[in-house]
Amino acid sequence: MTIRPLDVDPSHCLIGGIWGPCASGGTLPLIDPSDGQTLCRIAAGRAEDIDRAVAAARAAFDGAWGRMTAPERGRILHRLGALVLEHTDTLAALEAEDVGKPLSQARADVIALARYMEFYAGAVDKLHGTTIPYLQGYTVYTLREPHGVTGHIVPWNYPMQIIGRSVGAALAAGNACVLKPAEEACLTALAFGELAQRAGLPAGALNIVPGRGDEAGAALSGHAGVDHISFTGSVVTGRAVQTAAAQHVVPVTLELGGKSPQLVFDDADIDAALPFLVNAGIQNAGQTCSASSRILVQRGVYGEVCARMAERYAALRAGPAMQDLDLGPVVSKRQKEIIEGHIAKAGDLTLLAEGQVIDAAPAGGAYVAPRLYEGVPPDHPLAQEEIFGPVQVLIPFEDEAEAVAIANGTEYGLVASVWTRDGARQMRLARALRAGQVFLNNYGAGGGVELPFGGAGLSGHGREKGFEALYGFTALKTVAAHHG
Ligand code: NAD
Repeated sequence: MTIRPLDVDPSHCLIGGIWGPCASGGTLPLIDPSDGQTLCRIAAGRAEDIDRAVAAARAAFDGAWGRMTAPERGRILHRLGALVLEHTDTLAALEAEDVGKPLSQARADVIALARYMEFYAGAVDKLHGTTIPYLQGYTVYTLREPHGVTGHIVPWNYPMQIIGRSVGAALAAGNACVLKPAEEACLTALAFGELAQRAGLPAGALNIVPGRGDEAGAALSGHAGVDHISFTGSVVTGRAVQTAAAQHVVPVTLELGGKSPQLVFDDADIDAALPFLVNAGIQNAGQTCSASSRILVQRGVYGEVCARMAERYAALRAGPAMQDLDLGPVVSKRQKEIIEGHIAKAGDLTLLAEGQVIDAAPAGGAYVAPRLYEGVPPDHPLAQEEIFGPVQVLIPFEDEAEAVAIANGTEYGLVASVWTRDGARQMRLARALRAGQVFLNNYGAGGGVELPFGGAGLSGHGREKGFEALYGFTALKTVAAHHG
């Protein structure tokens, strides 16, 4: 099989500008979660492949790539963004098959990937230091310099978007990258590597080594030749990555998901809120780090919100990704089991509404019907633990103080949203909520690539997207010249 129409063999790695099998020749099956069939086999990269990839990245950083000016890097990223758009249909189909996400959601991810390239292409020559007024006889200025070799460990839920925000910013800043995509979904990562080469990215500036997390991923996060690690995924693995990177005292950006709330007050525009209340929970079958899994509703409108959300839930349909329904399958049988394990903790909670898996969905697919629970105590496991599946809980509250206490009452802090017409309350809550992004009368703000993103607590640390990512992928050097 090749990745049509890109002529990439999916069982290959990209190291130093050359596609080839991993050193052991080993492969892993890539499963289509819509039907459980094997799509193809991917490379089972290991430590020796990571060693070669890091060496190739270092050579690129010390060579042609490292010598390029910012405008030259920007031009390559511009071409790459255009190539991504040209291949929208191919990339969307690959992502839909591989991740299981409905085709139209996969298309939106392609557009986002292109937008990251466009944004960072345009931003890269606006990234500069400052001059600092200092003592008589001194001139002091700062330089923003790339770290060198950056490692990128990417999960399976949004491969294109996460590669865009992480690898896109790192390349723009002048780093040479080693990318370890997830073993559950890595086809668009490989296609992106091919397009990057066609765009003129020098050999070794981007290396891609698929493989298992505990082999290729662990080797990358603990590699002495890596100068910065960007990781998105689970809390458990994030801890392991940070621990490994700490052995070499390397900076780490962690984005580890959340339990993000939407707060609906009595004065909210319920008609405007409703689509966001539901969609933010079921997009990509709930496998979204910034999914809104907790809906906090003030008593005065609680009954209305419950009834209207239940009506929407009853109409939701899950089926094969290419049928482009409300939900596809979840990424794997294993993920389905994890979600079902959470659902089993519901106990005597009230299941307010449930969507359906269509009858025609293949029996081998990893389908989970979306579920909405109401009257959920804020300390219940379903209101505390990240489920990473299509499960939302409704929690009633009396007043603003209680709403803030519940919203901030988990170990996570990624995003939050507030639905109210009261401007003063909007301003108060924007400050009071523990989250890296707060949305007022919307959720997600269209996912803009310009908007800094990251969390607090177990949601991680560091910021990606926007200019903040460029700051994160550079180190600041202060130059103090004494000239009398
Ligand atoms: P994971 O965190 O284990 O995997 C994410 C990435 O890390 C993959 O590329 C994987 O190969 C790699 N990895 C795994 N073990 C590693 C190690 N020891 N060292 C370095 N890299 C390693 O996530 P998962 O097991 O695929 O999913 C389990 C749970 O993680 C989900 O149920 C969900 O709660 C969470 N998750 C969160 C996000 C997010 O966007 N925040 C994404 C995926 C999964």
